[in-house]
Amino acid sequence: MTATSSVGGADLRREADRVVNEVAQELRTLDEGAAWFCRLSPADRREVLRLVGGYAMQAHVTAADSRAGVARSGVRPTANPAVMICMDPPRSGFCGLPADEHVTAFRVLVAVFGVADTRRRRTCCKGACGHAWHHLSAAAGEP
Ligand SMILES: [Zn+2]
Repeated sequence: MTATSSVGGADLRREADRVVNEVAQELRTLDEGAAWFCRLSPADRREVLRLVGGYAMQAHVTAADSRAGVARSGVRPTANPAVMICMDPPRSGFCGLPADEHVTAFRVLVAVFGVADTRRRRTCCKGACGHAWHHLSAAAGEP
């Protein structure tokens, strides 16, 4: 074993899951999420981008979700990750972008996923679904 700061594997996936869904559900800001991302090793960042890119695709982002998400992300609409997500259908392969675009890719993907997932929570789920990741606030006590 080497002394890198890579988390990798199941632990990284669990942590990424939590951070991304907390940002999507506005329990944490996008800046806080990006700060978490910046502390990861380059290899872990690529893994997280692959993961979050998958979530965004699973959430069936629409072109409108992408535009709203990009606007919310604080990333320029002309930046590569913003252009990729706004294509119809959205491009994937964000982990293949140059390393200096990984943070903007993360911001764009999480923001767009947040828009699509919020729509889904309000329409299909309505607080009565079996998606474990839609019940994060329940752990913090009922309102
Ligand atoms: Zn749900």
